[in-house]
Amino acid sequence: MDRVVLNHVTYRYPIAEENALNDVSLRIKEGEFCSIIGANGSGKTTLCNVIRGFIPKFYQGDLEGQVLINGRDIAQVELGSLATEVGFVFQNPFTQISGIANTVYEELAFGLENMGVEPDVIRRRVEDVLRLTKTEAFRDRNPYQLSGGQQQRIALAAILIMEQDIMVIDEPTSQLDPQSTDDVFEVIKLMKDMGRTIVLVEHKMEQIARYSDHIIVLDQGRVVLEGTPREVITNPDCAKYHTRLPQCTNIGLGLKKRGVDLGELPITTDEAVG
Ligand code: ADP
Repeated sequence: MDRVVLNHVTYRYPIAEENALNDVSLRIKEGEFCSIIGANGSGKTTLCNVIRGFIPKFYQGDLEGQVLINGRDIAQVELGSLATEVGFVFQNPFTQISGIANTVYEELAFGLENMGVEPDVIRRRVEDVLRLTKTEAFRDRNPYQLSGGQQQRIALAAILIMEQDIMVIDEPTSQLDPQSTDDVFEVIKLMKDMGRTIVLVEHKMEQIARYSDHIIVLDQGRVVLEGTPREVITNPDCAKYHTRLPQCTNIGLGLKKRGVDLGELPITTDEAVG
């Protein structure tokens, strides 16, 4: 089943001169880990906002084409109803903390309490998510006193607990160091292993190559390349749209130019050393 379908979507912000999305058609299947890449301004965040229904409901502007989430046309769906199907985590974890909870435990319970979930069920689900995301150690800490990486894991745990099918995650590691980046990717991988559909905007190609099933490349609001990580990363056009290929792929390309035949280019470090 397709979780997300866009059919010929074109969108322009109210005061903008150019379209932010141009005739975008795509499909993201149930359980798929789909990464969206592209240069700054290519439309990645706009696409995320279309999928979670914020465009055109909050931003207005002209949206042409059709957006189906779980088979339903979002033009006919209330935002509140869509929020039960699409969870969202964005760049700055600090801004995602509710500001109401004194502890991580309360922070994670907050969304469920708002939905009127039974206290026993809340307790169980919070315990489960703390364990699964390996964040038990933060349980009684104030969310604001955690590091950026720890906060981002809590932000992800907070959407994991809501049990939406589709997780839209926009540059979650842009402010994080390598270790925190790995920790965040482990939580995203956990979401995927639990059957969630992941739509991830990222720049870190090593991780994209390692975790994604499907990559979509945007350029000036258009889908210019898509396919499996191997298809996209080894496509000679990829560097044109997104210059930072995985380091091992760049090294492989460099060797190839010097006449060293490596066979298939490696796209992850594991492949390069394997
Ligand atoms: P990316 O996430 O790939 O950096 P965006 O989706 O943020 O790209 O932006 C796509 C295009 O839409 C850019 O040209 C940007 O300037 C424009 N844009 C983004 N947000 C707004 C807005 N609120 N109002 C007008 N134009 C916007």
